[in-house]
Amino acid sequence: MPASLDWKNSGFGIYVHWPFCQSKCPYCDFNSHVRPEVNTINWQETYLSELSRYHSETPGRNVDSIFFGGGTPSLMKPSLVSNIIDKISLLWGIKPEAEITLEANPSSVEAEKFMAFKNAGVNRVSIGVQSLIDKDLKQLGRLHSVKEALKAIHIGRQTFEKTSFDLIYARQQQSLKNWEAELNLALSFDPDHLSLYQLTIEPNTAFGRLHKNGKLMGLPNEQTSGELYHTTNSICSLNGLFHYEVSNYAKLGHESIHNKIYWNYGDYVGIGPGAHGRLSNSNGRYATQSHSNPDKWVKSVRKSTGESARTLISKPDQADEMVMMGLRLSSGISKARYQKLSGKKFNEKNLTNLINDDLILVEKGFIRATESGRAVLNSLILSLLSD
Ligand code: SF4
Repeated sequence: MPASLDWKNSGFGIYVHWPFCQSKCPYCDFNSHVRPEVNTINWQETYLSELSRYHSETPGRNVDSIFFGGGTPSLMKPSLVSNIIDKISLLWGIKPEAEITLEANPSSVEAEKFMAFKNAGVNRVSIGVQSLIDKDLKQLGRLHSVKEALKAIHIGRQTFEKTSFDLIYARQQQSLKNWEAELNLALSFDPDHLSLYQLTIEPNTAFGRLHKNGKLMGLPNEQTSGELYHTTNSICSLNGLFHYEVSNYAKLGHESIHNKIYWNYGDYVGIGPGAHGRLSNSNGRYATQSHSNPDKWVKSVRKSTGESARTLISKPDQADEMVMMGLRLSSGISKARYQKLSGKKFNEKNLTNLINDDLILVEKGFIRATESGRAVLNSLILSLLSD
Protein backbone atom coordinates (compact mmCIF):
# COMPACT_ATOMS: atom_id res chain seq x y z
CA MET A 1 0.00 0.00 0.00
CA PRO A 2 1.57 3.39 -0.97
CA ALA A 3 2.10 5.83 1.93
CA SER A 4 -0.63 8.13 0.54
CA LEU A 5 -3.11 5.32 1.27
CA ASP A 6 -1.77 4.58 4.77
CA TRP A 7 -5.02 5.98 6.22
CA LYS A 8 -6.81 2.89 4.85
CA ASN A 9 -5.24 0.91 7.72
CA SER A 10 -7.81 2.60 9.92
CA GLY A 11 -10.61 4.21 7.92
CA PHE A 12 -12.26 7.52 7.21
CA GLY A 13 -14.40 9.52 9.62
CA ILE A 14 -16.07 12.90 9.86
CA TYR A 15 -16.07 14.94 13.06
CA VAL A 16 -18.63 17.74 13.43
CA HIS A 17 -18.04 20.18 16.28
CA TRP A 18 -21.03 21.94 17.87
CA PRO A 19 -19.45 24.56 20.13
CA PHE A 20 -22.36 25.56 22.36
CA CYS A 21 -23.32 24.54 25.91
CA GLN A 22 -25.93 25.61 28.45
CA SER A 23 -23.15 26.68 30.84
CA LYS A 24 -19.38 26.39 31.13
CA CYS A 25 -18.13 23.64 33.47
CA PRO A 26 -15.25 24.79 35.71
CA TYR A 27 -12.85 22.05 34.54
CA CYS A 28 -13.62 22.32 30.81
CA ASP A 29 -11.01 23.47 28.31
CA PHE A 30 -12.94 22.30 25.24
CA ASN A 31 -13.94 24.84 22.65
CA SER A 32 -17.38 25.46 24.15
CA HIS A 33 -19.34 28.69 24.45
CA VAL A 34 -22.58 29.77 26.09
CA ARG A 35 -24.99 31.60 23.76
CA PRO A 36 -28.62 32.49 24.46
CA GLU A 37 -29.53 31.82 20.83
CA VAL A 38 -27.97 30.19 17.79
CA ASN A 39 -29.11 30.78 14.22
CA THR A 40 -29.50 27.22 12.97
CA ILE A 41 -29.94 28.29 9.34
CA ASN A 42 -26.56 30.08 9.29
CA TRP A 43 -24.85 27.18 10.99
CA GLN A 44 -26.35 24.65 8.64
CA GLU A 45 -25.17 26.65 5.63
CA THR A 46 -21.60 26.74 6.94
CA TYR A 47 -21.43 23.05 7.90
CA LEU A 48 -22.79 21.98 4.51
CA SER A 49 -20.40 24.30 2.69
CA GLU A 50 -17.39 22.86 4.59
CA LEU A 51 -18.54 19.32 3.83
CA SER A 52 -18.64 20.10 0.09
CA ARG A 53 -15.18 21.67 0.21
CA TYR A 54 -13.66 18.66 1.97
CA HIS A 55 -15.43 16.25 -0.34
CA SER A 56 -13.84 17.91 -3.37
CA GLU A 57 -10.43 16.81 -2.06
CA THR A 58 -11.40 13.33 -0.84
CA PRO A 59 -13.53 11.90 -3.64
CA GLY A 60 -14.16 8.18 -4.02
CA ARG A 61 -14.28 7.37 -0.31
CA ASN A 62 -17.09 6.03 1.86
CA VAL A 63 -17.53 7.14 5.44
CA ASP A 64 -16.90 4.68 8.29
CA SER A 65 -18.00 7.00 11.06
CA ILE A 66 -19.55 10.38 11.87
CA PHE A 67 -19.18 11.96 15.30
CA PHE A 68 -21.12 14.97 16.57
CA GLY A 69 -18.98 16.29 19.44
CA GLY A 70 -18.85 19.49 21.40
CA GLY A 71 -19.86 21.48 23.25
CA THR A 72 -23.25 19.87 23.67
CA PRO A 73 -24.50 18.43 20.35
CA SER A 74 -27.71 17.20 22.01
CA LEU A 75 -28.67 20.91 21.95
CA MET A 76 -28.61 20.83 18.13
CA LYS A 77 -31.90 20.75 16.29
CA PRO A 78 -32.53 17.21 15.00
CA SER A 79 -33.27 18.72 11.56
CA LEU A 80 -29.72 20.15 11.48
CA VAL A 81 -28.21 16.78 12.42
CA SER A 82 -30.38 15.12 9.79
CA ASN A 83 -29.37 17.57 7.04
CA ILE A 84 -25.67 17.13 7.85
CA ILE A 85 -25.94 13.33 7.73
CA ASP A 86 -27.92 13.49 4.47
CA LYS A 87 -25.29 15.74 2.91
CA ILE A 88 -22.48 13.39 3.97
CA SER A 89 -24.41 10.49 2.51
CA LEU A 90 -24.94 12.36 -0.75
CA LEU A 91 -21.30 13.43 -1.06
CA TRP A 92 -19.29 10.41 0.09
CA GLY A 93 -21.78 7.67 0.84
CA ILE A 94 -22.02 6.20 4.33
CA LYS A 95 -21.09 2.53 4.79
CA PRO A 96 -24.07 0.44 5.98
CA GLU A 97 -22.19 -0.59 9.13
CA ALA A 98 -21.03 2.99 9.87
CA GLU A 99 -21.22 4.34 13.40
CA ILE A 100 -22.95 7.72 13.81
CA THR A 101 -22.43 9.06 17.33
CA LEU A 102 -23.86 12.10 19.06
CA GLU A 103 -22.67 13.37 22.44
CA ALA A 104 -25.47 14.20 24.85
CA ASN A 105 -25.76 15.89 28.20
CA PRO A 106 -28.38 14.49 30.60
CA SER A 107 -29.85 17.98 31.08
CA SER A 108 -30.80 18.16 27.39
CA VAL A 109 -32.21 14.65 26.95
CA GLU A 110 -35.84 14.03 26.09
CA ALA A 111 -37.19 10.78 24.68
CA GLU A 112 -38.79 12.58 21.74
CA LYS A 113 -35.61 14.41 20.80
CA PHE A 114 -33.53 11.21 21.04
CA MET A 115 -36.04 9.52 18.72
CA ALA A 116 -35.68 12.43 16.27
CA PHE A 117 -31.87 12.01 16.35
CA LYS A 118 -32.33 8.30 15.69
CA ASN A 119 -34.60 9.05 12.74
CA ALA A 120 -31.91 11.44 11.47
CA GLY A 121 -29.48 8.48 11.32
CA VAL A 122 -27.69 8.61 14.70
CA ASN A 123 -27.11 5.06 15.98
CA ARG A 124 -24.87 5.66 18.99
CA VAL A 125 -25.12 8.11 21.85
CA SER A 126 -22.38 9.06 24.28
CA ILE A 127 -23.81 10.55 27.47
CA GLY A 128 -21.82 12.88 29.73
CA VAL A 129 -22.94 11.43 33.08
CA GLN A 130 -19.64 12.35 34.85
CA SER A 131 -20.71 11.28 38.36
CA LEU A 132 -23.38 9.23 40.10
CA ILE A 133 -23.29 11.42 43.22
CA ASP A 134 -25.39 14.61 43.24
CA LYS A 135 -23.02 16.56 45.49
CA ASP A 136 -20.10 15.78 43.17
CA LEU A 137 -22.06 16.76 40.07
CA LYS A 138 -22.58 20.17 41.68
CA GLN A 139 -18.89 20.41 42.51
CA LEU A 140 -18.10 19.66 38.84
CA GLY A 141 -20.46 22.48 37.85
CA ARG A 142 -22.83 20.14 36.04
CA LEU A 143 -26.45 21.17 35.57
CA HIS A 144 -27.97 17.67 35.77
CA SER A 145 -28.84 15.41 38.69
CA VAL A 146 -28.12 11.69 39.09
CA LYS A 147 -31.82 11.04 38.47
CA GLU A 148 -31.62 12.84 35.11
CA ALA A 149 -28.43 10.98 34.22
CA LEU A 150 -30.05 7.60 34.88
CA LYS A 151 -33.08 8.64 32.86
CA ALA A 152 -30.81 9.66 29.97
CA ILE A 153 -29.03 6.27 30.05
CA HIS A 154 -32.40 4.50 30.08
CA ILE A 155 -33.78 6.51 27.14
CA GLY A 156 -30.47 6.15 25.27
CA ARG A 157 -30.56 2.38 25.57
CA GLN A 158 -34.20 2.22 24.53
CA THR A 159 -33.55 4.38 21.47
CA PHE A 160 -30.11 3.64 20.01
CA GLU A 161 -28.20 0.54 18.97
CA LYS A 162 -25.29 1.63 21.15
CA THR A 163 -25.09 3.75 24.28
CA SER A 164 -21.94 4.79 26.09
CA PHE A 165 -21.48 7.06 29.07
CA ASP A 166 -18.62 9.01 30.60
CA LEU A 167 -17.57 9.33 34.21
CA ILE A 168 -14.87 11.54 35.69
CA TYR A 169 -12.85 10.18 38.60
CA ALA A 170 -9.85 11.28 40.70
CA ARG A 171 -12.14 14.09 41.82
CA GLN A 172 -11.79 16.29 44.89
CA GLN A 173 -12.13 14.38 48.19
CA GLN A 174 -12.81 11.11 46.34
CA SER A 175 -11.49 8.07 48.19
CA LEU A 176 -10.63 4.79 46.51
CA LYS A 177 -13.50 3.14 48.36
CA ASN A 178 -16.02 5.75 47.19
CA TRP A 179 -14.88 5.44 43.58
CA GLU A 180 -15.11 1.64 43.74
CA ALA A 181 -18.71 1.93 44.95
CA GLU A 182 -19.60 4.50 42.27
CA LEU A 183 -17.98 2.49 39.48
CA ASN A 184 -19.72 -0.69 40.62
CA LEU A 185 -23.01 1.19 40.57
CA ALA A 186 -22.29 2.33 36.99
CA LEU A 187 -21.44 -1.25 36.01
CA SER A 188 -24.69 -2.52 37.54
CA PHE A 189 -26.43 -0.88 34.54
CA ASP A 190 -24.52 -3.35 32.33
CA PRO A 191 -23.04 -0.75 29.93
CA ASP A 192 -21.52 -1.89 26.62
CA HIS A 193 -19.06 0.98 26.63
CA LEU A 194 -17.69 3.33 29.29
CA SER A 195 -15.28 6.27 29.02
CA LEU A 196 -13.59 6.86 32.38
CA TYR A 197 -11.40 9.95 32.60
CA GLN A 198 -9.31 11.21 35.47
CA LEU A 199 -10.05 14.85 36.32
CA THR A 200 -7.23 16.95 34.90
CA ILE A 201 -6.70 20.56 35.91
CA GLU A 202 -6.16 22.68 32.81
CA PRO A 203 -4.66 26.17 33.12
CA ASN A 204 -7.32 28.24 31.33
CA THR A 205 -10.27 27.00 33.34
CA ALA A 206 -12.00 28.07 36.57
CA PHE A 207 -10.50 25.01 38.31
CA GLY A 208 -7.08 25.88 36.87
CA ARG A 209 -7.26 29.38 38.37
CA LEU A 210 -8.41 28.05 41.77
CA HIS A 211 -5.62 25.48 41.71
CA LYS A 212 -3.02 28.12 40.91
CA ASN A 213 -4.17 30.09 43.95
CA GLY A 214 -4.09 26.99 46.17
CA LYS A 215 -7.88 26.99 46.51
CA LEU A 216 -8.77 23.67 44.88
CA MET A 217 -8.54 21.25 47.75
CA GLY A 218 -8.66 17.47 48.08
CA LEU A 219 -7.22 16.40 44.72
CA PRO A 220 -5.48 13.00 44.75
CA ASN A 221 -1.69 12.85 44.63
CA GLU A 222 0.16 10.89 41.94
CA GLN A 223 0.20 7.68 43.95
CA THR A 224 -3.54 7.78 44.67
CA SER A 225 -4.25 8.61 41.00
CA GLY A 226 -2.24 5.53 40.01
CA GLU A 227 -4.18 3.37 42.48
CA LEU A 228 -7.48 4.75 41.18
CA TYR A 229 -6.43 3.93 37.61
CA HIS A 230 -5.38 0.35 38.39
CA THR A 231 -8.52 -0.26 40.46
CA THR A 232 -10.65 1.06 37.59
CA ASN A 233 -8.97 -1.35 35.18
CA SER A 234 -9.44 -4.38 37.46
CA ILE A 235 -13.08 -3.64 38.29
CA CYS A 236 -13.97 -3.11 34.60
CA SER A 237 -12.15 -6.27 33.62
CA LEU A 238 -13.96 -8.30 36.33
CA ASN A 239 -17.22 -7.00 34.86
CA GLY A 240 -16.44 -8.04 31.29
CA LEU A 241 -15.38 -4.62 30.00
CA PHE A 242 -12.20 -4.86 28.02
CA HIS A 243 -9.71 -2.00 28.60
CA TYR A 244 -9.20 -1.28 24.91
CA GLU A 245 -7.83 2.26 25.22
CA VAL A 246 -6.24 4.29 28.04
CA SER A 247 -9.61 5.72 29.20
CA ASN A 248 -12.09 3.49 27.37
CA TYR A 249 -13.66 0.16 28.29
CA ALA A 250 -16.05 -1.94 26.22
CA LYS A 251 -17.59 -5.33 25.74
CA LEU A 252 -15.94 -7.02 22.77
CA GLY A 253 -17.32 -5.60 19.53
CA HIS A 254 -18.59 -2.41 21.22
CA GLU A 255 -15.42 -0.31 20.92
CA SER A 256 -15.95 3.19 19.46
CA ILE A 257 -15.33 2.97 15.71
CA HIS A 258 -14.83 6.72 15.44
CA ASN A 259 -12.20 7.05 18.14
CA LYS A 260 -10.40 4.00 16.78
CA ILE A 261 -10.00 5.91 13.50
CA TYR A 262 -8.01 8.53 15.45
CA TRP A 263 -6.05 6.05 17.52
CA ASN A 264 -5.26 3.80 14.53
CA TYR A 265 -4.21 6.90 12.62
CA GLY A 266 -6.81 6.99 9.89
CA ASP A 267 -8.06 10.03 7.99
CA TYR A 268 -10.77 12.30 9.31
CA VAL A 269 -12.38 15.52 8.24
CA GLY A 270 -12.89 17.92 11.15
CA ILE A 271 -15.51 20.61 10.64
CA GLY A 272 -16.78 23.26 13.03
CA PRO A 273 -14.96 25.78 15.25
CA GLY A 274 -11.62 24.49 16.51
CA ALA A 275 -11.99 21.09 14.81
CA HIS A 276 -8.83 19.25 13.75
CA GLY A 277 -8.46 16.86 10.83
CA ARG A 278 -5.99 14.53 9.13
CA LEU A 279 -6.32 14.20 5.37
CA SER A 280 -4.23 12.33 2.82
CA ASN A 281 -3.91 12.96 -0.88
CA SER A 282 -1.26 12.24 -3.50
CA ASN A 283 0.91 15.08 -2.09
CA GLY A 284 0.99 13.62 1.41
CA ARG A 285 -0.94 13.79 4.67
CA TYR A 286 -2.08 17.11 6.10
CA ALA A 287 -3.06 18.29 9.56
CA THR A 288 -5.93 20.75 9.36
CA GLN A 289 -7.21 23.09 12.03
CA SER A 290 -10.28 25.33 11.99
CA HIS A 291 -10.73 28.77 13.54
CA SER A 292 -11.74 28.32 17.19
CA ASN A 293 -13.92 31.37 17.54
CA PRO A 294 -17.43 30.42 16.36
CA ASP A 295 -18.17 33.78 14.71
CA LYS A 296 -14.79 33.90 12.99
CA TRP A 297 -15.27 30.34 11.76
CA VAL A 298 -18.67 31.16 10.24
CA LYS A 299 -17.31 34.33 8.59
CA SER A 300 -14.26 32.53 7.21
CA VAL A 301 -16.34 29.69 5.77
CA ARG A 302 -18.51 32.26 4.01
CA LYS A 303 -15.41 33.79 2.44
CA SER A 304 -13.71 30.51 1.46
CA THR A 305 -12.64 28.06 4.18
CA GLY A 306 -13.02 27.60 7.94
CA GLU A 307 -9.42 26.40 8.20
CA SER A 308 -6.96 28.52 10.15
CA ALA A 309 -3.99 26.24 9.39
CA ARG A 310 -3.01 23.35 7.15
CA THR A 311 0.37 21.65 7.57
CA LEU A 312 2.00 18.92 5.53
CA ILE A 313 3.13 16.18 7.94
CA SER A 314 6.47 14.62 7.02
CA LYS A 315 6.52 10.82 6.84
CA PRO A 316 8.72 10.46 9.97
CA ASP A 317 6.29 12.74 11.84
CA GLN A 318 3.38 10.64 10.59
CA ALA A 319 5.14 7.56 11.95
CA ASP A 320 5.60 9.25 15.34
CA GLU A 321 1.96 10.35 15.44
CA MET A 322 0.92 6.80 14.57
CA VAL A 323 2.96 5.52 17.55
CA MET A 324 1.61 8.16 19.95
CA MET A 325 -1.98 7.40 19.05
CA GLY A 326 -1.69 3.65 18.49
CA LEU A 327 -0.03 2.75 21.79
CA ARG A 328 -3.11 4.07 23.57
CA LEU A 329 -4.91 1.01 22.20
CA SER A 330 -4.52 -2.47 23.65
CA SER A 331 -4.14 -3.71 20.05
CA GLY A 332 -0.94 -1.62 19.72
CA ILE A 333 0.95 -0.69 16.55
CA SER A 334 2.36 -2.57 13.59
CA LYS A 335 6.16 -2.54 13.33
CA ALA A 336 5.93 -2.91 9.54
CA ARG A 337 3.60 0.09 9.24
CA TYR A 338 6.00 2.19 11.33
CA GLN A 339 8.92 1.14 9.17
CA LYS A 340 7.06 1.93 5.97
CA LEU A 341 6.12 5.42 7.16
CA SER A 342 9.35 6.39 8.88
CA GLY A 343 11.78 4.58 6.58
CA LYS A 344 13.54 3.06 9.60
CA LYS A 345 13.14 0.30 12.16
CA PHE A 346 12.55 0.79 15.88
CA ASN A 347 15.75 0.94 17.88
CA GLU A 348 16.21 -2.67 19.11
CA LYS A 349 17.91 -1.56 22.32
CA ASN A 350 14.92 0.64 23.22
CA LEU A 351 12.56 -2.27 22.55
CA THR A 352 14.60 -4.63 24.74
CA ASN A 353 14.76 -2.14 27.62
CA LEU A 354 11.01 -1.51 27.51
CA ILE A 355 10.27 -5.25 27.35
CA ASN A 356 12.57 -5.86 30.34
CA ASP A 357 10.80 -3.10 32.27
CA ASP A 358 7.45 -4.81 31.53
CA LEU A 359 6.18 -1.70 29.72
CA ILE A 360 5.64 -3.25 26.27
CA LEU A 361 5.04 -6.62 24.63
CA VAL A 362 6.24 -7.42 21.11
CA GLU A 363 4.26 -10.19 19.42
CA LYS A 364 3.45 -11.15 15.83
CA GLY A 365 4.87 -7.92 14.42
CA PHE A 366 2.93 -5.67 16.85
CA ILE A 367 4.08 -3.59 19.81
CA ARG A 368 1.60 -3.27 22.65
CA ALA A 369 1.88 -1.24 25.84
CA THR A 370 1.24 -3.36 28.94
CA GLU A 371 -1.13 -2.13 31.68
CA SER A 372 1.89 -0.66 33.50
CA GLY A 373 3.10 0.83 30.22
CA ARG A 374 -0.20 2.58 29.52
CA ALA A 375 -0.07 4.13 33.00
CA VAL A 376 3.18 5.92 31.98
CA LEU A 377 2.48 6.22 28.27
CA ASN A 378 4.16 9.56 27.59
CA SER A 379 7.52 8.54 29.01
CA LEU A 380 7.22 5.11 27.35
CA ILE A 381 6.74 6.76 23.93
CA LEU A 382 9.70 9.07 24.51
CA SER A 383 11.91 6.08 25.34
CA LEU A 384 10.64 4.07 22.38
CA LEU A 385 11.25 6.86 19.85
CA SER A 386 14.60 8.08 21.19
CA ASP A 387 17.69 7.42 19.00
S1 SF4 B 1 -20.88 20.31 28.97
FE1 SF4 B 1 -18.94 19.44 28.24
S2 SF4 B 1 -18.23 20.80 26.62
FE2 SF4 B 1 -19.85 21.89 27.74
S3 SF4 B 1 -18.74 23.10 29.24
FE3 SF4 B 1 -19.28 21.18 30.26
S4 SF4 B 1 -17.50 19.81 29.91
FE4 SF4 B 1 -17.32 21.56 28.49
